[in-house]
Amino acid sequence: MKAARLYGKNDLRVCDIPKPGIHEGEILLKVKAAAVCGTDLRMWRNGASGIDQDHPVTLSHEFSGVIEQVGKEVAGYKPGDRVSIAPNIGCGVCDRCVSGNSHHCQALKAFGVHIDGGFAEYVKIPALAVSHGNVTPLADGVSFEAAAANEAFSCVYSAFERYQVYPGDIVCIIGAGAIGIMHAKLAFMAGASKVILNDLSGERLAEGKLIEPRLITVSKDLAAAVDRETNGAGANVVITACSVKAVQENAFSIAGTDGRVNFFGGLPAGQIAGLDTNQIHYKQLTVTGTTRSSHRHYRRTLDFIAKRIVDIDPVITNRYPIEDVLAAFSNAAAAKGLKHVVVFD
Ligand SMILES: [Zn+2]
Ligand SMILES: [Zn+2]
Repeated sequence: MKAARLYGKNDLRVCDIPKPGIHEGEILLKVKAAAVCGTDLRMWRNGASGIDQDHPVTLSHEFSGVIEQVGKEVAGYKPGDRVSIAPNIGCGVCDRCVSGNSHHCQALKAFGVHIDGGFAEYVKIPALAVSHGNVTPLADGVSFEAAAANEAFSCVYSAFERYQVYPGDIVCIIGAGAIGIMHAKLAFMAGASKVILNDLSGERLAEGKLIEPRLITVSKDLAAAVDRETNGAGANVVITACSVKAVQENAFSIAGTDGRVNFFGGLPAGQIAGLDTNQIHYKQLTVTGTTRSSHRHYRRTLDFIAKRIVDIDPVITNRYPIEDVLAAFSNAAAAKGLKHVVVFD
């Protein structure tokens, strides 16, 4: 079968490898869609620990497909089921796992990071992932592409639960990629009166506006725009949906009193933002950071998609066969289009 495997820094190859076999508690998934995420791009550009010429890993932690085969001890799933896979596999017994936060398990193993992921015609789902509920059934009408991108959406939702949007709020999002648009969709769902989307790229803003015509798009002088749109009060919620230090450093200044600021995008390793903590103090800001998502978040957002409360299909702008995975990575890295998905017949 064909698979896109990382052999080290800047060394992603489309290879022919044997189709995996499965044991009693495992599932063999025939992949239908696998999305490119910022994590894949970081691993490709920087390399990742444990991955080298002798230990390649198939990338993609955002994927969906049809169950091809189940081991004889597998209960609750059968061949032909349409499913998507939550990528984080916790140990299942530590306090974090037991509290439902297996995405922060210290023994975390993730598809496409530590074990083979979705850029392949078939993926073996280990027994722990099967018994921990990583395999998520898809309702009719949920596309494989949306189900794959649901992983990113669930991470956005995890942040949304922490920064909280109340009806009438004015929300400011910096970064108009797929993640930024997903934050905007949730803000509108929660009753935000205005959502301001900021990005340097006019092209991205135009794409965002096509998907969500209610967006107020701003390409320069964000402070003035927030001032204007909030009558000088500042935004209720500010989300940094990009990995830019200066954006984090400016976030507090555009938040209003009792505002909530979420640092969604992490910074490259070694970069440390200088933050004006007096703004937290005098404006009584709540500052949150979030990373990854739990199975609960993952199932919740899939349910939003199934019930058509939020439609993320328009965020998927580019589709590729597995042979063109490098084009998908290059385009995603160059911020061309929004969500890039490798699709299989
Ligand atoms: Zn654990
Ligand atoms: Zn992701």
